[in-house]
Amino acid sequence: MAASTNDEQGSKHGQGTLWGGASASLVDGLNDAQREAVQVEQGPLLILAGPGSGKTRVVTRRIAHLVRECGVDPWRIVAITFTNKAAREMKERVEQLVPVQGMWISTFHAMCARILRRDIEMLGVWTRDFTIYDTGDKNQLLKRLIKEADYDVTRFRPSMVGGWISDRKNRGVERVEVPEGMEIELEVLEKVARLYEEAMQRQNALDFDDLLLVTLRLFDEHPGLRDAYAHRFLHVMVDEYQDTNHAQYLLAKHLASAHGNLAVCGDPDQSIYAWRGADIRNILDFERDWPQARTVRLEQNYRSTMTILRAAQALIERNSSRKPKDLWSERGEGEPIGLLTCADENDEADAIAERIRAQLRSGVQAKDVAVFYRVNFMQRALESALRMARVPYQVVGGLEFYERREIKDLIAYAKLVVNPADDVAFLRVVNVPQRGIGDKSVETLAKFAKDRRIPLSRAIRSSEALSLVRGRGRGGLEGFAALLDQLAWLKDLDAGVAFTQILELINREVWLAEMEDDQQVDREANVEELLTHAEQYDLAASQAPVDPASQEERSRGLRGFLQEIALVADVDQMDTSVEQGGKVTLMTLHSAKGLEFPLVFIAGCEEELLPHVRALLDGGEEAGEEERRLFDVGVTRAQDKLWLTHAQTRNHFGQFTYREASRFLAEIPGGAEEEEEDTRSSEEMLGRFEPAVTSLKVGDRVQHDHFGKGTIEALQGAGVNARASVRFPAHGVKHLLLQYAKLTKLG
Ligand code: ATP
Ligand code: MG
Repeated sequence: MAASTNDEQGSKHGQGTLWGGASASLVDGLNDAQREAVQVEQGPLLILAGPGSGKTRVVTRRIAHLVRECGVDPWRIVAITFTNKAAREMKERVEQLVPVQGMWISTFHAMCARILRRDIEMLGVWTRDFTIYDTGDKNQLLKRLIKEADYDVTRFRPSMVGGWISDRKNRGVERVEVPEGMEIELEVLEKVARLYEEAMQRQNALDFDDLLLVTLRLFDEHPGLRDAYAHRFLHVMVDEYQDTNHAQYLLAKHLASAHGNLAVCGDPDQSIYAWRGADIRNILDFERDWPQARTVRLEQNYRSTMTILRAAQALIERNSSRKPKDLWSERGEGEPIGLLTCADENDEADAIAERIRAQLRSGVQAKDVAVFYRVNFMQRALESALRMARVPYQVVGGLEFYERREIKDLIAYAKLVVNPADDVAFLRVVNVPQRGIGDKSVETLAKFAKDRRIPLSRAIRSSEALSLVRGRGRGGLEGFAALLDQLAWLKDLDAGVAFTQILELINREVWLAEMEDDQQVDREANVEELLTHAEQYDLAASQAPVDPASQEERSRGLRGFLQEIALVADVDQMDTSVEQGGKVTLMTLHSAKGLEFPLVFIAGCEEELLPHVRALLDGGEEAGEEERRLFDVGVTRAQDKLWLTHAQTRNHFGQFTYREASRFLAEIPGGAEEEEEDTRSSEEMLGRFEPAVTSLKVGDRVQHDHFGKGTIEALQGAGVNARASVRFPAHGVKHLLLQYAKLTKLG
C-alpha cells in the first residue's frame, strides 16, 4: 500500500482477517479518547482533532465495533469519506475486522448516484439510465449552448460560465451576482444557465452538483423515501467533515433524521475546499445543530516527528479564524526540515530526484516517498527528472487515463449505448471514425433537434431531418443511425463484452489508424487497458455477494462500469496502475488529504504558487488562510522527514518569471535547514543571459504578451537580474525578469 489513511494491518492484531478471532478487542491499542469515541453507540458524535491523531482510525474501528459488539447489521451502516481512494482504503480496513456485506462505504457523490439509480424516476424527469457528465462534458455542452445563443465563446468562456452555474446551484438561490473580473451580463449568464438545465434534462444527464442536489430534491418531494433511507441506515458516519458543502450537510442530516446516530470527524484546520463550496460552519456548528452531541478531542499525534508537528502548529496558528488546539507526539525530534533553493523548475526537479535516489540507495522504499505540488503544470518537470534518474513513480490525478482521446471516444460510444439521449457523446463520435459527415450536416441536424426539443439520436432517425442534409453527409448520417440501432443491443451486456462489440462495430483498425499523429502515445495499449479494466469490473461485480436486505438492483454491466468511472473523474482520478508496489507518488496538495508518507517533498514553495495567485487576488484574507491550511495539510502528511523546495525563476506560458520564496517558509519556527545544492547555482544560471538594457521607469504603461496591459510599480536589480513588478488589471502584480518579459512600452 503506497499510502494509507490509517494502518490496521500495522496494528498488533496483525495478519489476516480478525473477525474469526474473537479474542482480539477492537479497542486494543487505542488511547482513552479514541476508545471513548469508538464505544459511543448512540446519538450524535463529533470527533474534533488535528492531523494524524487517528480520526480515520477511530471511524474504521467504530464501524467494526458496532457490528461486532453491538450487533448492528452491516447493511445498516453508511460511512462517507472524501475521495474514492479513501473510501476504498476504509472498506479494506473494515473488512479486516468484520464482514462488510451490504455496508455502504463511499463518497457522497457515489452514494447519491446509487440512490438515484434506484429512485430517480419518481421525479418524472430523468430515467435510471442517466449519464453523469464530468467537467469536460459539461464544458462541451456549454460551449455549444453559448454558440447557439450567438455569444462569443472566447468572451463567455464555458468553464467560467460553468463555475457560475455551479455556484448558483449550490447556493440554492436565484440571484447570484457576476463575480468581479468576469465581464458578462447577468442576464446572459441566467439565460445560458436556463438553456443548460433544459439541455441536461433533455439529454437525461446529471452533473456532479446534480448528483447531490437532485437527491435532496428527491428527499424533499418524497419524504417517505427519505424516511425509508433514514430507517435503513441506523448509523451514519462522515470523515473529513470540515470539507462538506451545504448539500452534503443536508444529506447527512436527512440520513440521520430518524435516529440522530450521526458521527462526524474532522479538523477545521484542514478545510481546503471552500473554493468549491465547502462550508466550515458545518463542523463548527455541529454542537449547535445537535445539542445532545458528544464531543471527543484527540490530542496525540501518531504520525509525525515533533519537528514536523511543531512547524505545522506554528504555521496554522497564524490563521485568525480558528479554534486553538494542542497536539503532541511521542515520536521524538527527528530530522530537521530540509530546504532546497533552486535556480529554476528543472533544477528543482533534479534536486528532488537526486535526493530521492540517495534515499532509495540507503534502503528507503519508493512507495514511502511523495512529492506534492500546488498546480498540475509542475508535474511535467518532476516527471522528466524522475525518469532521467530512473526513479519509479506514479502520478495520482494529473493528465488522466480517462482524458485520453481514444478512451473518451470509446466511453462516448458506451454512453450512447446506455443513454442514447446523450448529445455530448453523440457529437463527439458522430464522425469518428470518419463517415463523411461535415460540420454543416451536423449543424442542420442540431437545429432540427433543437427546434423540436428532441435529442440528436432521435433527430437522426427522422427522414424529414435527413432530407434537409445535402450530399455525402446524408449517407453518413444514415450509416450512423444504423450503427446506433446496433449499439442499442449492447445495453444489458457485461462491460467487457460490450466494449469488445463496440470496437468491432466501429472498426477498431480504421478508427485507430485515423488517430495516427505525432504524439507518442500507444493508443492500442490504452484500449487494451480499458478492456482489462472493464473485465476486472465485471469479475468483481459478479463475485460481490448479493445483498438481500437492501433489495436494490445490483449495479453492474456497462451501466455500472460507466457510473464507476464517471465518479472517479473528479477530485481523485483513478490511478490506473494496477498495483502500486514500489513507486514514488506525485500528486497535488489537494489530493494528498488524509494520506501519510514517511518522506515528503513539497515543491514550488513560492509566492503566487503557494499561496496561489488566484487566492491572493480574489479571495482576500480568508482565501489566503485557506492556502496556509493547504500548505499545512502537505506538511502534516510527512511522518519522518520533510523537504521544502523553491525555484528562483520559473518558465511558464513561455515566459521566465522571477520568483519570491513563499511567505510560509519564513513562518516555520527556526526555519528549514538549507541543504547544499550541487547542481547549477542560481547565479550561474542567471549569468548565462545577456544584460538587459531598459529605459523603463516606475509608472510606465506597458504591454505584455500574456498578461496584457499593465503599469510598472517597481524596478529592481541590474543587468541580467533586472526585474520589474508590474500590475496587470486582470492578473495582479507580476514580478518579471525584464530579459524575458518582452515588455513593450505604451505611449
Ligand atoms: P488526518 O487528519 O490527516 O486525516 P487522522 O486523524 O485521520 O489524520 P489517522 O490517519 O487515522 O489520522 O492516523 C494517523 C496515523 O497514526 C496512522 O498511521 C494510524 O495508524 C496511527 N495511529 C492512530 N492512532 C493510533 C494509536 N492509538 N496507536 C498507534 N498508532 C495510531
Ligand atoms: Mg483522516
